[in-house]
Amino acid sequence: MHESGVQVLLLGSTHAEYGRMEKMLSSVQSYRYHLIWHESLKAGEEAIKKGHHDVVLLDCQHHPNQALGILQTNLDRGSQLPFIAITESVDDIVAQQALSFGAIDFLALENMDNYVLSRCIGYAVEKSHVEQKLSQLNLYDPLTGVPNRMYFLQNLEEAIDKASRQQQNLSLLLINLDGFSRVNASFGSDAGDQLVTIMAERLTGCVRKSDSVSRLNGDEFALVLDDCEGHDDIALVAKKVIDVLSAPFEIAGQPLVVSCSIGIAVYPDAGVTVEDMLQSANMAMQEAKAERGCQFHFYNKTTNAEVIAQISLEQDLRRALRAEEFELFYQPRVSLESGETVGMEGLLRWRHPIRGLVSPSEFIPVAEESGLIVPLGYWVIQQACADIRSMDEKLATPLDVAVNLSFKQLQDSMFVDTSSRIIKQSGIDPSRLEFELTETAIMSNYQQTYEGMMALHKMGVTFSLDDFGTGFSSFAHIQRLPISALKVDRSFIRNVAKSNEDAIIVKAMINLAHSLRLKVIAEGVETLEQIQFLWQNQCDQVQGFYFSPAVSMKDFNLMIEQRATSII
Ligand code: C2E
Ligand code: CA
Ligand code: CA
Repeated sequence: MHESGVQVLLLGSTHAEYGRMEKMLSSVQSYRYHLIWHESLKAGEEAIKKGHHDVVLLDCQHHPNQALGILQTNLDRGSQLPFIAITESVDDIVAQQALSFGAIDFLALENMDNYVLSRCIGYAVEKSHVEQKLSQLNLYDPLTGVPNRMYFLQNLEEAIDKASRQQQNLSLLLINLDGFSRVNASFGSDAGDQLVTIMAERLTGCVRKSDSVSRLNGDEFALVLDDCEGHDDIALVAKKVIDVLSAPFEIAGQPLVVSCSIGIAVYPDAGVTVEDMLQSANMAMQEAKAERGCQFHFYNKTTNAEVIAQISLEQDLRRALRAEEFELFYQPRVSLESGETVGMEGLLRWRHPIRGLVSPSEFIPVAEESGLIVPLGYWVIQQACADIRSMDEKLATPLDVAVNLSFKQLQDSMFVDTSSRIIKQSGIDPSRLEFELTETAIMSNYQQTYEGMMALHKMGVTFSLDDFGTGFSSFAHIQRLPISALKVDRSFIRNVAKSNEDAIIVKAMINLAHSLRLKVIAEGVETLEQIQFLWQNQCDQVQGFYFSPAVSMKDFNLMIEQRATSII
């Protein structure tokens, strides 16, 4: 409360109503009231942000929804400012609504007099003082000991004020673990708590004292940097955070590697209010999450549009899965020794009712980010098994079928159980099915992947290493895995017949694979020269447009039949 009296902000009332209340308050002897009035709620919201008022009288008679919106915003910000709703009568429905949106009390104009008004204001101001004192005691997160959401919101508000006065930059980093809910689900909430506690320790340990780390909820932390010059400095801090969080966590006696995503909002470009800064950082975080592994992203104005586009693609994908719009196309794998098709790779296609055939590079990243890749991936496995069965009825020689696995599928704790059930139910021989995995996918969660691969390998399923040469792999690790083939990435094959350097690399890859007793499959083979080179260097199989792009099962069968007849 100010020395000079109680600062009362009146919003949304008409001039006549304002006059009436002004008169009531000035007749109160025991207190001095300063009544500030805005008829427009919009102007009132600005005044709330700027001013230091003791209490707000929010008139809900004229624009109830807008008034409730102001209460909601106040609630979201964790603000302590007390609101009294003004209604026409005691039984106005909006009175109850206002209370549920955090108003401290309500006053009906029909029975308002100077005594009721001043008592109600006094009560609201006192009550909010008590609450403020109580919440001071509640500013820290009990689990980790760092400031909680409420304290963070206050700090950010103050930091924004300071930055605006001193015309400085200010950045907000939102830090979120990827797949935290899965840690909780697979190891229990105690393990989740343990993870969050270590995370808080590491974060506090890696920033300066003046940069405050807070826990907003679950596995979401915020970091406010108040004097970082330019994006490079901020990026350095983000990288440091990524570094400390990517070291294995010891949870329930086991090492666990998690990745994180960071969304960054820089004041004033990303917003000048607490809400805008938070929203921008959140959007940037969504962007970061859309990319694999540890990533950080700065908010920029286009982020907004991109996130919205991604959300609608995600909804569209959900619908498509139900509407069965996906198809599995197949590309042949040809043996260089016999010249015959010995297998095929299943490649996903989306037959969109409006967009036509959509390629996986457009929708797989969104499916991975949203987790939809898990059910979609099961659909692929089940379809591949069904196609193996139907082909066996038509073709004399059995062809092996490979399908791609995403790193996200392997992180699903049910993956081994569900996929082995699908394979068993289909009745196929499991050794006819191969899973293609990239090095990055394997290394993103080595232990879990290793165990899953071993279990499936026991059943007879085989594995190959996809996009070989493009990711990071540790040979000590790869050697222990039940892999039977390496697929040399398209980028090395492209110039193999023209570039000496690429030729040397591919030869080395073939030797390496053979020394590990692995087959070698070249991807993206488009020319006869490439085939000659690969044949001379003992590459086992080739796959690429030279033979055929991926085609529907029907076309694939036709192609195989034609080849068979053309030989005869
Ligand atoms: P990938 O596993 O490396 O698949 C090979 C990609 O190269 C395919 O693109 C294929 O059409 C293309 N390709 C094959 N031969 C040639 C060639 O001679 N020249 C050129 N320029 N390209 C060739 P596609 O079908 O667009 O698939 C792209 C990626 O999407 C795949 O890369 C794979 O990572 C992913 N993907 C496709 N289907 C699935 C699926 O069912 N599940 C998962 N998780 N990922 C999938
Ligand atoms: Ca592949
Ligand atoms: Ca590949």
